[in-house]
Amino acid sequence: MPDTALRFICDSMLGRLAKSLRMLGFDTLYTHCLTPQQLVQLSMEQQRIILTRRSACMQSSPTVSCIYIRSNDPDEQLRQVIAASGIVKALIRPFTICLSCNVPLTGLAKEAAAGRVPDYVFTTVDNFAACNACGRVYWKGTHYANMEDRMKKIMV
Ligand SMILES: [Zn+2]
Repeated sequence: MPDTALRFICDSMLGRLAKSLRMLGFDTLYTHCLTPQQLVQLSMEQQRIILTRRSACMQSSPTVSCIYIRSNDPDEQLRQVIAASGIVKALIRPFTICLSCNVPLTGLAKEAAAGRVPDYVFTTVDNFAACNACGRVYWKGTHYANMEDRMKKIMV
């Protein structure tokens, strides 16, 4: 089966956008110190769509997929990426990627979450996931509800 998953790489000005895309389950590279050349190189090697606030990147190569982000507003930025890259609801898999490490989360048994999450969370939540790289534990809590509200406004 061909790998058709959407992957992104953000320039250094788009850290918030990178986190939003990870939150929606999209593999999104973001580091502070990439040169425009490295951005293009990684984009080609790993078939990532470049998201950039710098228009210069657009001219670097006609074969690179690149979305020039126009707005400073985080919701507007996300709306633009969703429209330009063809993201539909069925492609969104919220909270499947670590927001810090950009690696897939793995399911965590409730017993294993004991002591790793606040007590009130442990008693009210049954499904957990964890990042094997940084150890952070995720669950459908306030962040999740906030993200769902935000997506309702963005994907109309
Ligand atoms: Zn992590």
